Amino acid sequence: MKAIGFFLMLNFIFPSSFIEDVKIERVSENSSLRIQDNYSGRNSSRAFRPVTKYIVLHTTECSSDQSSLNGVRPKGKCNYLVRKDGLVYRIIDKNKISTHAGVSVWDGVYGLNENAIGIEVVGSYLKPITYAQKVALKELIRQLQSIYNLDDTKVVTHSMVAYSKPNKYHSVPVRGRKRCGSQFAGSELRSQLGLSNTFAYDPDMKAGRVKYQADPYLNRLYTGSAAWTKGSSIKVKTEDDHIEADGFREIPKDGKTAWAIAGVENNISTTIYFFPDGRVETGNNLDKSQLESLPTGTKVLVGYIYGGKIKKGRTAYKVVGRKWNYPSTFYRKPDGTILSGDGVSEKEIPSGSIVFFQKWSS
Ligand SMILES: [Zn+2]
Repeated sequence: MKAIGFFLMLNFIFPSSFIEDVKIERVSENSSLRIQDNYSGRNSSRAFRPVTKYIVLHTTECSSDQSSLNGVRPKGKCNYLVRKDGLVYRIIDKNKISTHAGVSVWDGVYGLNENAIGIEVVGSYLKPITYAQKVALKELIRQLQSIYNLDDTKVVTHSMVAYSKPNKYHSVPVRGRKRCGSQFAGSELRSQLGLSNTFAYDPDMKAGRVKYQADPYLNRLYTGSAAWTKGSSIKVKTEDDHIEADGFREIPKDGKTAWAIAGVENNISTTIYFFPDGRVETGNNLDKSQLESLPTGTKVLVGYIYGGKIKKGRTAYKVVGRKWNYPSTFYRKPDGTILSGDGVSEKEIPSGSIVFFQKWSS
C-alpha cells in the first residue's frame, strides 16, 4: 500500500512519462554495507532523473572524509559518498539528479548527470581505495545494478565519460577532462568489485563524437590495458574547472575570439553569446567580423538551446519540458542576472526571462 501511495503521489506531481525509472526499492544495509542518510539541502527540490542508464564512479581527490563530504553535500554533487571506513552516505535520493559528471558522453548518451547515478569514493585516482571501501562499494554497486537492471558494462568511471566541448585548448570535442575514478576502469579492481568486464575501446571516439584522448596519462592507462584509440598527447589542458562549474565562458579569459572560445561550434545556433550591453545572440546570427571582435566581458554558453522568453501562457515547463528545473538549465532574468534552474519554482522565474537548456536529450 505504501508503495502504491508513493506512485500515486508522484503521478499527481509529474506526468507518468516522468516517473518511468523511479524505483521505490531502497539500497539496504547488510553485513557488507553500512549506509546512512546524510542528504544535501538541495535534495528535496532536486528534479527526478527520468532514466538510469549508468553508474558513474568517482574519487573525491581528497583524503579526508569530512572535506569530501563538505565538497559534495552542499550542492548535491553525488548520490552516494563512500567513506574510508566503508560507511556510505546518501547525499541525493538515488532517483534524483546529482551533479557529478559535468560535461560528459558515453556511448552516445550525453549529460550523464541526467542519466546516471554518481558514487563518490573518498580518495585519489592515484591511490588504492581501502579494503572497507571495496567491500561496501561492491555491495552498493550490486544492489543498484539489481534495482535499475544495469549490467557490468553500465558501471563506468568519470575519467571515461568526461569530455571537453571545443575550447581555447582544443577546437574539437576531446576526452581527457578528468582523471577522476580512472582506477575503476582497470581489470583487477573491477573484478574485486564484482564487475566482470573491462572496456576494449571508447565508443564515442570510435563514433567520432569525441576526436581524441587529450590526456597522455589516461591515454597510457587505457591503451596500455586495452585497444583504446590512440590519441594526441600534444596538449594536456582540456577545459578549466570554472567552466564546468557554471557553464559560462568569458571573453577574454577563456579565449579572445569566438573561435578560441568555442572552436568548431562558434558560429552555430547552440553557441549563445551574452553581450555586456544586454543583447543575447546565437552564433548563427553573428557574422565573421562580429565573432572575431567580441567585446570584453561577453559570456558564452556552448551546447545550449536558446528557448526564448518565458511569459504568461509560455511557461518554462511548456518551453523546456522536464528539464525546466534541472541544474543544467539557466534563466536570464530581465534585470540581466542569471538564475540556475536547480530546483527552481515557477514563481521564481519572472515574466520576460529567457531560458537556456542543454541540447542533448535524456
Ligand atoms: Zn568525478
